[in-house]
Amino acid sequence: MKKVLVLGGGFAGVETAIYLRKQGINTTLVSDRDYFYIYPTSIWIPTGDATKEDVSVPLEKLAKKHGFEVIVDAVTSFEAKEKKVTLESGKVIDDFEYIVVAIGQDKMKPKGVEHTLSICGKPEEAVELNKRIEELVAKGSGKIAMGFGGNPKDTSAVRGGPAFEVLFNVNTMLKKKGLRDKFELTFFAPMEKPGLKMGHNAVEMMHKMFNMTNIHAQIGSKIISFEEDGINFENGTKLESDLIMFISAGTGHHVLVNSG
Ligand SMILES: Cc1cc2nc3c(=O)[nH]c(=O)nc-3n(C[C@H](O)[C@H](O)[C@H](O)COP(=O)(O)OP(=O)(O)OC[C@H]3O[C@@H](n4cnc5c(N)ncnc54)[C@H](O)[C@@H]3O)c2cc1C
Repeated sequence: MKKVLVLGGGFAGVETAIYLRKQGINTTLVSDRDYFYIYPTSIWIPTGDATKEDVSVPLEKLAKKHGFEVIVDAVTSFEAKEKKVTLESGKVIDDFEYIVVAIGQDKMKPKGVEHTLSICGKPEEAVELNKRIEELVAKGSGKIAMGFGGNPKDTSAVRGGPAFEVLFNVNTMLKKKGLRDKFELTFFAPMEKPGLKMGHNAVEMMHKMFNMTNIHAQIGSKIISFEEDGINFENGTKLESDLIMFISAGTGHHVLVNSG
């Protein structure tokens, strides 16, 4: 019987494993997390409208239901020609006829990115965002900046939608708490027209929404660096922020970059 190894336990990996099992194919999935994390609904975590557990499904549960095997371990190297996969534990897997690679992407690392949190990064970052927002709410005022960056080598590797979504969610939460006028909310991005890949109408609508919700926009200038207390732009301005949520553009996963 054919044996397929699926690397990655996100949408692509899990969907592949389920599909292969429906065809009666012997399937093993490797994931560095023991749960499937539903990124689209994680946008509710920063405002406390959902928990990490609400948006996670244990891989073991899915494996049991659909009949595939799960190995929880990180892939550290993948030799494509040899169909050889090495895991963090030291285990080597080289007896599969087919390997499906679905480990997602790495993120670009601009200077000072460690001073930011991303809704598109590790699930723990969404939880930390919630903690930091709650601390600011307890303090009663603050400056929050949320935005995204680009990849000059691949303009399609940008993910901006969740920045708008989380920012609007924070705006609504602060309004409900009667604290909106105590907070400065700013959207930032280096492009002249962020969100343009969704069309001109979307960009226009976004600006209308910003005006309606009193969200400032710092756009059209390259991000030079992040600091603990703000963001430096090429045009010389510094956007002061108590909390920065930044979605870095995607780039090739390091395991694949080194896969030969
Ligand atoms: C906040 C947010 C909101 C979104 N909203 C929408 C939406 O509304 N609609 C929509 O269509 N799309 C949305 N997306 C995009 C969508 O979530 C992605 O396209 C999708 O998650 C990509 O799936 P994937 O399986 O390719 O990669 P990923 O989801 O990145 O999954 C990769 C998996 O591989 C695992 N992995 C990584 N490295 C290793 C390794 N070395 N070893 C083992 N395992 C590894 C990871 O733990 C992860 O489980 C959103 C994304 C985010 C972040």
